[in-house]
Amino acid sequence: MPSKDEEDDVEVRCPKCGATIRVALAEAERTNKATCPNGHEVPLAKALG
Ligand SMILES: [Zn+2]
Repeated sequence: MPSKDEEDDVEVRCPKCGATIRVALAEAERTNKATCPNGHEVPLAKALG
């Protein structure tokens, strides 16, 4: 039994405020960006590998 499903999430740090942002991998691949809790838009680019 898997304890967590972290494999399906991407974790990035907002370069503007340093907040940690977690976004579902599928969502990240589709939009190539994440929105931090403070409203900053963070491009994910190729960070996903
Ligand atoms: Zn931010």
